[in-house]
Amino acid sequence: MEQIKRNILLNPGPSTTTDTVKYAQVVPDICPREKEFGGLMKGLREDLVKIVHGDLDKYTSVLFCGSGTINIDVCINSLLPEGKKILVVDNGAYSTRAVEVCQYYGLPHIDLKFPVDEQPDLAVVEQTLKDNPDIGLVHTTHNETGTGILNPIREIGALAHKYNAIFTVDTTSTYAMRPINIEEDNIDFCMASAQKGLMSFTGLSFVVGNKAIIEESKNFPRRSYYCNLYLQYEFFEKTGEMHFTPPVQTIYATIQALKEYWKEGEVAKWARHTRVFNAINAGLDELGFKQVIKPELRAGLVSSAIYPDDPNWDFEKVHDYCFERGFTIYPGKISTTNTFRLCALGAIDEDDINDFFVVFKAALDEFGVTTPVTYK
Ligand SMILES: *Cc1c(COP(=O)(O)O)cnc(C)c1O
Repeated sequence: MEQIKRNILLNPGPSTTTDTVKYAQVVPDICPREKEFGGLMKGLREDLVKIVHGDLDKYTSVLFCGSGTINIDVCINSLLPEGKKILVVDNGAYSTRAVEVCQYYGLPHIDLKFPVDEQPDLAVVEQTLKDNPDIGLVHTTHNETGTGILNPIREIGALAHKYNAIFTVDTTSTYAMRPINIEEDNIDFCMASAQKGLMSFTGLSFVVGNKAIIEESKNFPRRSYYCNLYLQYEFFEKTGEMHFTPPVQTIYATIQALKEYWKEGEVAKWARHTRVFNAINAGLDELGFKQVIKPELRAGLVSSAIYPDDPNWDFEKVHDYCFERGFTIYPGKISTTNTFRLCALGAIDEDDINDFFVVFKAALDEFGVTTPVTYK
């Protein structure tokens, strides 16, 4: 097996993969309607539930061919009962995306906005639920990837259930990294895609959730064909296959990635991501970079650094310098502050971060950015 050039991706997914996962895509051509392929998907679907410690009698996973956003679309459009309203607890770009999904489907919703650098105020969430007994679905984001803030999903989920609403959580940037317990975290539906925590490739996304609610959703209004949760679930239950053509090679890679996930183990993997995250923060601190999110509110996977007030700072130039040397850094996603992000996803460890900071510092020196960096 020839070694493939190793790039360190510090963007928020797709993430750096192992060569064994890359090569798992290279398989003899197969029609995905063959039994041999259907058999692979059964184990895959069960593994996806086990990652969030779900009881297989109560929870299931439903696969879709698409990037992670397809899951938000599926959950929002499929899980809203007739005559009900959606509450989006929104403190960042990914919850705002869920609001946009509501807008595109013309669904009644409340966009409950909070500042991007603060956790949602639970008292306000509860008051909103009290004032609007027609809320049938509450949605939020676990780790707001735009900033890296951690949201209190267990508490929001408890409130959703207290007021009889379904709780869906965008866990795309925590799943298979920061440990999740679907039952204890009061989650009805969570979601992710293969190219983030699982360290596989793009093209496979999945919703993990409560079977009884999916069965019930058979009678909810049908707002999409390709993105209907019940339709896809029912097809899986009947045939063991995806309704339409699956991303065949990504599925092979993801099965290999799952083997590597179980081998590393949930605790060791989270410890590794934490080491990487700590190394990123230590490097940023040493260079004097300020961050958007206070240390105690960080989800432990995404750092959002604020652009320094230095006339020589040019993100694009620094990015290109690092990219040419095998390190990818990523722009921010906050409209009011100029930021860039460094993320702790992927098959990397703290040595890679130490190597990165040697290159990053060299870039700052090359372009004449004063270090430690300064702010007005
Ligand atoms: C990456 C991500 C998504 C999905 O983005 P795609 O570009 O569609 O893959 C959704 N939610 C969160 C929180 C994410 O981090």
